[in-house]
Amino acid sequence: MHIFVTGGAGYIGSICVEELLNAGYQVTVFDSLVEGHKLAIEPRANFIQGDLGDRDFIFKTMAKVKPDAVMHFAAFALVGESMTNPSKYFINNLANGINLIDAMVAADVKKLVFSSTCATYGIPEKVPMDERLPQKPINPYGQSKLMFEQVLKWYDQIHGLVHVNLRYFNAAGASASGKYGEDHRIETHLIPNVLKVALGQKEQVDIFGDKHATPDGTCIRDYIHIIDLAAAHILALKRETSSYYNLGTGEGYSVQQVVDVARKVTGHPIPAVAKPARAGDPPRLVAGAHKAQKELGWKPQFNRLQPIIESAWNWHKAHPNGYGD
Ligand code: UDP
Repeated sequence: MHIFVTGGAGYIGSICVEELLNAGYQVTVFDSLVEGHKLAIEPRANFIQGDLGDRDFIFKTMAKVKPDAVMHFAAFALVGESMTNPSKYFINNLANGINLIDAMVAADVKKLVFSSTCATYGIPEKVPMDERLPQKPINPYGQSKLMFEQVLKWYDQIHGLVHVNLRYFNAAGASASGKYGEDHRIETHLIPNVLKVALGQKEQVDIFGDKHATPDGTCIRDYIHIIDLAAAHILALKRETSSYYNLGTGEGYSVQQVVDVARKVTGHPIPAVAKPARAGDPPRLVAGAHKAQKELGWKPQFNRLQPIIESAWNWHKAHPNGYGD
């Protein structure tokens, strides 16, 4: 099977590409390299540099490659940035995504695994969060992903586009080979920022809000190892009908707990300072992922924070400047 991976040079995309190749799939990576990195492109994959905003180019490319399925990772994914620049999120995550699926329909490519997010739920009415919760995003990032899910539903009904929406919680850790890890040009994510302090590249980590409605006042998230995420994508390819799944471990850890575990893993004191809460941040997001376990046969191997942080730390120690670009 030949899989076309948009955003295949990004953090989650590159690691899924490596796992797909290890599992015997043929892969074409499609990436603009705006957020992705040249060195994150698997040498065993075909690579096409392109932007989904270029409608003619994606139509021509899809007609030429004619893959068996598409995994769509290419997107902007920063909650905070989406609150100041919503247009960037709606154009890339929604409008450019429509170029992709129109190109798929034109080329008769009928299967898509879509990288969605728990941010489509907004502030959950209950935790753990299963797929029956209403989707009421509280930031443009989550809204853009929800709108794309809604568009996909119509494309299935009208064009027979089978799609699997994978709603991730917080991806973390590095690839099993140690080759690929998390490197964003502007790093806003918690775990890499905490590890940058341990590497001596930042003086302290900011804790965004210590008065949230959680036991220690800091936000709780469900950190899922990237290798487990990749495994779910490969299982999703086997589905014959459209569906949607939450992907998380079911365990929540607070920002304070992340800092504490990172102190233990790195042996560094990692100074942390409380700062005002970040706009658009729900206090507690923890997955109920039974549906993925039941229907995809998916079972996360990593359900504790420490091995996830160890995996991230090993990569950051080996790549202190990320991919160096
Ligand atoms: N966070 C923090 N300090 C940072 C980065 C993030 O306190 O330097 C918090 C953030 O407010 C959120 C959690 O850590 O509650 C996870 O944030 P991240 O950006 O990693 O992922 P998100 O949940 O926004 O997708």
